[in-house]
Amino acid sequence: MSTVSTQNDKATHKTHQPLQIAKRLEKFQTTIFTQMSLLAIKHGAINLGQGFPNFDGPEFVKEAAIQAIRDGKNQYARGYGVPDLNIAIAERFKKDTGLVVDPEKEVTVTSGCTEAIAATVLGLINPGDEVILFAPFYDSYEATLSMAGAKVKSITLRPPNFAVPIEEFKSTISKNTRAILLNTPHNPTGKMFTREELDCIASLCIENDVLVFTDEVYDKLAFDMEHISLASLPGMFERTVTMNSLGKTFSLTGWKIGWAIAPPHLSWGVRQAHAYLTFSTAHPFQYAAAVALRAADSYYAELKRDYMAKKAILVEGLKAVGFKVFPSSGTYFVVVDHTPFGLENDIAFCEYLVKEVGVVAIPTSVFYLNPEEGKNLVRFTFCKDEQTIRSAVERMKQKLRK
Ligand code: GLN
Repeated sequence: MSTVSTQNDKATHKTHQPLQIAKRLEKFQTTIFTQMSLLAIKHGAINLGQGFPNFDGPEFVKEAAIQAIRDGKNQYARGYGVPDLNIAIAERFKKDTGLVVDPEKEVTVTSGCTEAIAATVLGLINPGDEVILFAPFYDSYEATLSMAGAKVKSITLRPPNFAVPIEEFKSTISKNTRAILLNTPHNPTGKMFTREELDCIASLCIENDVLVFTDEVYDKLAFDMEHISLASLPGMFERTVTMNSLGKTFSLTGWKIGWAIAPPHLSWGVRQAHAYLTFSTAHPFQYAAAVALRAADSYYAELKRDYMAKKAILVEGLKAVGFKVFPSSGTYFVVVDHTPFGLENDIAFCEYLVKEVGVVAIPTSVFYLNPEEGKNLVRFTFCKDEQTIRSAVERMKQKLRK
């Protein structure tokens, strides 16, 4: 099982030169999100694959960006963030976690959470350092760790509830582990790490002197349980880099505003890597991000309500189509078992779905060190307007046969 066929294939490359790429990136394909979104366009399919809303972000945030551009905030921003955004991020973090952080020393603004992860990994991980991921994992983690020369280990979260296999975690983590990289609410499964799981992870990280990098970009899309930041557990702030972004919470994924919160001794590495990766992040959007983060509580409540309604439509629809649907407690994703429809693996199923049914989903095997582990699972997103979700379900009802 390799990759979905797209126009990006080597065979269609025009120059007839062999493609060149550094060894550290050799094993990675065109990202699955790019592949699937290209296929959606090519086949006129409904895109429930790549997680980007097909509706716009709030007017008051867009207006703030337009105003900032008009006000001439168009040259380089301060490297680690516009002062008021650093303050807004610290205020938000205090509201969410109770932790008080210094906006000047402990908050770094980055170009999306993906850059926060890259800056964290490149700034704090040495070649040969061992880092543990939980599979399935978001695709950029492994590629970024590979760019840093890290040794990647993974622990697989298995359906139906994707619980952390504690004994396996205990036997994987050791004094040789430099860091773990954890995502909650979890893309692609929608799993949220429970307090018990986080307590156990925390105590093992403290015992083995391990750093923790957390990707919490879906924290405001926590439906069935409370989101817990690992940094807020006793003894954890000093060893944790907490990362987040604006994109999911404000339906502005193209703005690429993210941040990393960490104690000064860890922020140093993150900031130095950030300084030499991008130097600074788009200036006018940072002003708008500060306005966004100070949104009234009602904004967040409404966002959650809207997404719960969308999720219900998709989940009921997928069940009616005949999938086995696994519970999703957070994020805007849901994972299903496609095997009732008889295709050999997730890639074959997604190819069939886009070409014959006209719907795009994401095959999950790319999110595992061992792709076999994901071959029965595909991911759908519900960050689309209700009509789009209903139309996709309708197409599947009509054309998918067991
Ligand atoms: N985070 C988005 C998803 O999981 C994809 C972003 C991207 O295309 N890199 O669908």
